Amino acid sequence: MQISQNSVAAFHYTLTDDKGQVIDSSEGRDPLTYLHGSGQIVPGLEKQMEGRKVGDKFNAEVAPEEGYGVHHAELMQEVPKSAFQGVEDIQPGMQFQGRGPQGEINVTVARIEGDTVFIDGNHPLAGQTLHFAIEVTEVRDASAEELEHGHVHGAGGHQH
Ligand code: ZN
Repeated sequence: MQISQNSVAAFHYTLTDDKGQVIDSSEGRDPLTYLHGSGQIVPGLEKQMEGRKVGDKFNAEVAPEEGYGVHHAELMQEVPKSAFQGVEDIQPGMQFQGRGPQGEINVTVARIEGDTVFIDGNHPLAGQTLHFAIEVTEVRDASAEELEHGHVHGAGGHQH
């Protein structure tokens, strides 16, 4: 059975950057389960999952445009430390919810200089080419209920 629109597929992955550094991996964990064609994984990877079957191992390279997006300079902002009232000890790498032009966004503290906090609303992997090593572990048809809900039920999915 091949992965196609409305398949439920599970896969193990290792994600590395251009320098070969591991960014994320499912090693030692359950495989990632998703509903194919619903945009639950990055578009460039979803495209390359199409037609794969259980046992397939392959490498997928995904450009930023089809990954976590290009890096937008306008999402980098400087805000005064006083804007973070109630935060005891603000540190680089901390994440906050902020309000952007398109609603809520997650911002990461990039660095702090004196009383100025530099925040970055880009996804941490924005602008990066993603290198996936994939092993497909399961392919099945989605149930009518899963299609209705738009997500996977059972192992690796929603338990409700
Ligand atoms: Zn559901």
